[in-house]
Amino acid sequence: MKQSQENDKISQFKRTLITSALPYANGPVHIGHLAGVYVPADIYARYKRLLGEEVLFIGGSDEHGVPISLKAKAEGCTPQEVVDRYHELIKKSFKEFGISFDIYSRTTSPTHKETASAFFRTLYDKKHFVEQDSEQYYDPEANMFLADRYIVGICPHCHKEGAYGDQCEACGTSLSATDLIEPRSSISGAKPILKNTKHWYLPLDKDETWLREWILEQHKEWKPNVYGQCKSWIDMGLQPRAVSRDLDWGVPVPVEGAEGKVLYVWFDAPIGYISNTKELLPDSWETWWKDESTRMIHFIGKDNIVFHCIVFPAMLKAEGSFILPDNVPANEFLNLEGDKISTSRNWAVWLHEYLQDFPGKEDVLRYVLTANAPETKDNDFTWKDFQARNNNELVAIYGNFVNRTLVLTHKYFDGKVLLVAC
Ligand SMILES: [Zn+2]
Repeated sequence: MKQSQENDKISQFKRTLITSALPYANGPVHIGHLAGVYVPADIYARYKRLLGEEVLFIGGSDEHGVPISLKAKAEGCTPQEVVDRYHELIKKSFKEFGISFDIYSRTTSPTHKETASAFFRTLYDKKHFVEQDSEQYYDPEANMFLADRYIVGICPHCHKEGAYGDQCEACGTSLSATDLIEPRSSISGAKPILKNTKHWYLPLDKDETWLREWILEQHKEWKPNVYGQCKSWIDMGLQPRAVSRDLDWGVPVPVEGAEGKVLYVWFDAPIGYISNTKELLPDSWETWWKDESTRMIHFIGKDNIVFHCIVFPAMLKAEGSFILPDNVPANEFLNLEGDKISTSRNWAVWLHEYLQDFPGKEDVLRYVLTANAPETKDNDFTWKDFQARNNNELVAIYGNFVNRTLVLTHKYFDGKVLLVAC
């Protein structure tokens, strides 16, 4: 689409709803999160506000899912204690750093539980889900079904020990738990057995036609990395996706016969954008989610593309009363000193630590992450570059420009500035 046509299309909207990926509350926020999602979303929100437009910027913590239960087990506390700790830390550091959310809430809020339950229930009542039984790994000692992350074994591809049921971190291959050689439960160490269980599936295979038209024909302006990933998912053929899990941490599946089952974290998390809007604006949230003159933009990292471009839109469309996103700008990843940022290896610059170590220097980091944003490819953050950009660009070039302007204004114009309206 030509830029002018694109601008015409955007000018038809009356307001902009900006969402930013919900950070996972099992650890603090790092510079990769900031560069990928929060700084770009914040710049866009501030820009829209400066133009005097109606804008809403939604954030919040994603607090369900297996890694949080795993962390709680490892630390001998409850999942709620884990998310309480990280939600407060993340919320506080975003505030100090100056990310200008209109609301920063969480997916363990009562509003969210109610909203996510009702959303599932609507699709269930419309008979949109496919109910299906399958054989899944069960720990006979701990008496529980095992999520993929709870199963470890030997990778069938690289034959390294310690691969997870969903992925081998040594070779990066995505796995099915049943592919693992010599699987064992990471809860009890027992050999898991296969046991029958029922789940609800979102029939994405039936969404292929409209998704193809909507993304590949109507949204050719999306960033090449986003458009390309969507195209390859659609071309590969979409498969039904389970939206429930056998777990004790999450939003309970709100139907009969679903005891011990919760909504899959990827079903409940994006509904968090809706819940948080509702929490902020209980009387007018629908204007932001259901009025065709609202332009919705999801800021995310590249690992979330399929969920925001395919799964969540399929959920919204199935529900029937919601708008779809107009754009989903996803950034690539930021590395640190040439190595992939990793929470588990503690290889990151953590935001809360930066704020302690560089008090008052929030905008220096914001500038460096913006100048070096991983918009089209993975970029690298180095402290040497951080120092050089601060000293050469902010202090020398920008600082000098401001200084000269002030000195010369005093020298030639008595320090007076005349504003001319035009
Ligand atoms: Zn492997």
